[in-house]
Amino acid sequence: MVLDLLLTNGVLVIPKTGLVQGCIGIKGGKIVGIYAGPAGISAIEKVDIRQRYVLPGLVDPHVHYGYRDNLKGHFQSETASAARGGITTVIPFYRDIKNPTGLYENIPALKAMAEANAYTDFSLHLLLITREQLMNAKRYFFDYGITSFKFYMAYKGEDSKSIGLTGNETDDGFLFEAFASLADIPGTLACIHAENIEIILSLIKKYKGQGKDGLRTWSDCRPNISEWESVHRAITLAGEAGCPLYVAHLSTRESVREVKSLKSKYRNLFSETCPHYLLFTKHAPLGNIAKVNPPLRGSKDIEALWKGIADGMIDTIGSDHCPFLKEDKEGQIWDASAGFPGSATMLAVILSEGVNKKRISLEKVVEVMSYNPAKIFNLFPRKGTIQVGSDADLCIVDLSLSKKVRHEDLLSCSDFSVFDGLTLKGWPVMTMVRGKMVMREGEIVGSPGHGLFIESEIQRQ
Ligand SMILES: [Zn+2]
Repeated sequence: MVLDLLLTNGVLVIPKTGLVQGCIGIKGGKIVGIYAGPAGISAIEKVDIRQRYVLPGLVDPHVHYGYRDNLKGHFQSETASAARGGITTVIPFYRDIKNPTGLYENIPALKAMAEANAYTDFSLHLLLITREQLMNAKRYFFDYGITSFKFYMAYKGEDSKSIGLTGNETDDGFLFEAFASLADIPGTLACIHAENIEIILSLIKKYKGQGKDGLRTWSDCRPNISEWESVHRAITLAGEAGCPLYVAHLSTRESVREVKSLKSKYRNLFSETCPHYLLFTKHAPLGNIAKVNPPLRGSKDIEALWKGIADGMIDTIGSDHCPFLKEDKEGQIWDASAGFPGSATMLAVILSEGVNKKRISLEKVVEVMSYNPAKIFNLFPRKGTIQVGSDADLCIVDLSLSKKVRHEDLLSCSDFSVFDGLTLKGWPVMTMVRGKMVMREGEIVGSPGHGLFIESEIQRQ
């Protein structure tokens, strides 16, 4: 057999196996062989990895595309930015901006549009905010191949207007109903944004009334308890309903404690954190651009989150990528949009702050950034590992490369990065999606329209 491509001289980081010196053979977009050396193997093209690390392509389980009604543009520019960061599969949270209570009849067209534009592969989470949408979950699962559904504990009532989410029926009653409904569709999973919006709205009123402003105030309006109380409640409601639950973006040490105490009771409980919660405190001199929900916390929270990753209490790292512009961040902290881009810097932050500072190992990185998200969202073993038969989605990493973050290099349509000016050590230098080189030495070499919607393994059976 003549291979399409042979990667030689790499240090493979194989989830659950460890570091393996070797070569990877690729044909038809799949991994067809893993060899100790290149002797006797013929291939159309050979690429020398020069002893750098070869990771399974990252799965970013948490991105937001489509803001300003620019879904098509985002599937192109933001998947390029993702590939820049070593990501080979993104999972956007989809909601219909124009018709938030609609029934998602547009999903087949959306998939076709996204496949015509994306550089990387993708799956989808679907936001459910009405009982009518909930009643259609089975159809979304069987007809559209969607296995993961998102719910907001924040962004309801008065707060829903801040992101144009009118008609959101979410309250504890709705959530418990929703969890019970999904429990009846084996293979589905609920994702939750857990923040207690009643506590937050009352504090916003108080601090706004006192004339306060600034990033620190945003954090003070959303204290740790407004997150961990909701994390506890969401886990309990889902657990009692028998519904698998994925708690997005943990940011507090108490949330990690709640997950730890409930994980043995409720088996199908998964949690995520994001790079910014692992690096910045609420005192960071970043201003409005770093406004995000949940907000930045304190240094004790940062250390607890790293420990949570190391201990296996936190299962994944997602970017919560949202490609806003600087102009969306102007005015008082109350007026600025919440969120910022993060796909392209996600791996570099974790390599720099985590691996190079000896908080976690490279083996842990591939577990929480590739293997676990692929497993949780039913993309494994097609995605999330390096083994014969899997897609040849790979990310080559230079762990000793130091580079200053410049948002211009990150290929997002966004015109800033909260990581701008930081020197990070450890960067992805090549990204390959199904055997095709998409990013090489920081440049995009692939083309839009290579990306595919990845059916979940459950749908394929
Ligand atoms: Zn998000």
